Amino acid sequence: TPWRATVLTLFPEMFPGPLGVSLAGRALASGLWQLEARDIRASATDRHRSVDDTPAGGGPGMVLRADVLAAAIDAAGIAPERPRLLMSPRGRPLTQARVTELAQGPGPLIVCGRFEGIDQRVIDGRGLEEVSIGDYVLSGGEIAALALIDACVRLLPGVMGKEASGTEESFSDGLLEYPQYTRPQLFEGAPIPDILTSGDHAKVAAWRRAQSEALTAARRPDLWAQIPAKPPNRAGRQK
Ligand code: SAM
Repeated sequence: TPWRATVLTLFPEMFPGPLGVSLAGRALASGLWQLEARDIRASATDRHRSVDDTPAGGGPGMVLRADVLAAAIDAAGIAPERPRLLMSPRGRPLTQARVTELAQGPGPLIVCGRFEGIDQRVIDGRGLEEVSIGDYVLSGGEIAALALIDACVRLLPGVMGKEASGTEESFSDGLLEYPQYTRPQLFEGAPIPDILTSGDHAKVAAWRRAQSEALTAARRPDLWAQIPAKPPNRAGRQK
């Protein structure tokens, strides 16, 4: 069976949204992956179909009820081997490594929070893994879920063309990507760097590597610090 994302949300109409166009949209239409958006509100039981209530202990806003969300999760009938994610600014920041793992598996359940968040007991009781897409606060988990799914889907076999295999991208080797150029050869007085049009593949590769390293060291010292130490004689190999 194809890779599948099951999304629990109060706004199922937000899906597939932007994932219905371009690369992901064509792949969805051709059955390379599947998307199921389920309405949490369908599991509400009271007369008013309420899904939230005021926070215990006081404070602003509302909290998604544990009983309603747990019922929605249970009704989704998620196979035990599928990851169960909760989009959350408190979660572990999403990385390309985790995206790759998720893309290689059967596809996750993704719970989208709203309001001030969800009752802790459903996070614990249903074993939800909290995942953040960055240190800022969105108004709901849907846009975060769309970002996560998009990042996974483009890695699925057959979704990207061969020319964009994803093996030389930012983060694939722990580095940011080198600068890209295309025609015209001269743009507003700026030429394409000579080396890229030299036809010397080894020199091009070395230039790109050096650019990637310099960019990563300058912009992302956190990533740069994780690059394994280079072999001691790498720089002096020519001697
Ligand atoms: N009160 C929460 C807090 O301070 O951690 C923020 C709740 S936010 C307004 C509502 C929902 O948006 C969250 O439950 C989560 O599902 C989603 N969300 C917001 N920011 C996110 C982020 N950076 N990454 C992933 N999900 C996020």
